[in-house]
Amino acid sequence: MIMLSRLPSPSWCAAVRTRCIARSLSRRLGLSSARRCHIPLRRPITRALSLPSKKRLLKMGFDITFTGLSNGELDSTRQTNMSEIIFLGTGTSEGIPRVSCLTDPLKKCEVCSKATEPGNKNKRLNTSILIRYNCSGGRFNILIDAGKFFYHSALRWFPFYGIRTIDAVIITHSHADAIGGLDDLRDWTNNVQPCVPIYTAIRDFEVMQKTHYYLVDTSVIIPGAAVSDLQFNIIKEEPFTVHNLQITPLPVWHGPGYRSLGFRFGNVCYISDASDIPEETYELLTGCDLLIVDALRPDRSSTTHFGLPRALQEVRRIQPKRTLFTGMMHLMDHDKVNEYLGSLMETEGLDIQLSYDGLRIPVSL
Ligand SMILES: [Zn+2]
Ligand SMILES: [Zn+2]
Repeated sequence: MIMLSRLPSPSWCAAVRTRCIARSLSRRLGLSSARRCHIPLRRPITRALSLPSKKRLLKMGFDITFTGLSNGELDSTRQTNMSEIIFLGTGTSEGIPRVSCLTDPLKKCEVCSKATEPGNKNKRLNTSILIRYNCSGGRFNILIDAGKFFYHSALRWFPFYGIRTIDAVIITHSHADAIGGLDDLRDWTNNVQPCVPIYTAIRDFEVMQKTHYYLVDTSVIIPGAAVSDLQFNIIKEEPFTVHNLQITPLPVWHGPGYRSLGFRFGNVCYISDASDIPEETYELLTGCDLLIVDALRPDRSSTTHFGLPRALQEVRRIQPKRTLFTGMMHLMDHDKVNEYLGSLMETEGLDIQLSYDGLRIPVSL
């Protein structure tokens, strides 16, 4: 649904303009006159609002509010009121398959070869999830991280799942595989919605001031250049709210002396980049139903990421009802590792599997 309203205070003039615009939109969207005030959006709004039109509307003082756009509306398969998580990426920074493996004349990499097959679960892009939060106020798409391959993830899964808006982006840390896609948000802020709110720790914001200086200091932009319109919100290591969803940061170490954030929402805990968990963070992990945690490689940890043995150690300590590993490199064969993890259900009662790109999990938030 799209609602147009004038800010800050309604007036006769504003009401007339709102009606005019609603009428014009109704005509363009081919809707009946009975639906002119609140227009259920069955077709992408970009067809009705070009960038100049949108900018003109915004300049006139209209606030364009998108409610429940496509989030479920365009996905006829989803009739549930539950929230859900969609894994947009579950792999390492360079992506899987690795180009170097596919061009190696001496050795065939089994996992990377499999990853080239259509639909194979070893194909993994940069770690990221989308929380599709369903509450009384509507449906909101909250993204955690937009890395280097964000465009490719979105291209693959947004149309597939009928995802339209990005209602917020929460940043775990400022490595390229977590923030490299911020520039790609231009397609949303130019064609879908006026801006995207970004939630980030100050240390990561300071990195963005260098890596994405033109998105932070918009005064350097040449007038007319259509870059992403981002609203930065600085978060601390304490709970904050995004579209009525309480998010609790889970501070972890991602290499010695380098802090990254995991996030808890409801009883879901997401920790994508960790080499160690500080003692005080364990308290925030109690009563976890679904743990999504870093597991880079099958044999050992690296200086910046948990390996499988350490990730399992953490699962045994945290005791979530269910665990999904993420951030896997090409040494982690989806089927083989899952077979091993499946055996842990029989021996230890542990419900653990590898996640994969495109996996959708219903959650109660
Ligand atoms: Zn490989
Ligand atoms: Zn990282």
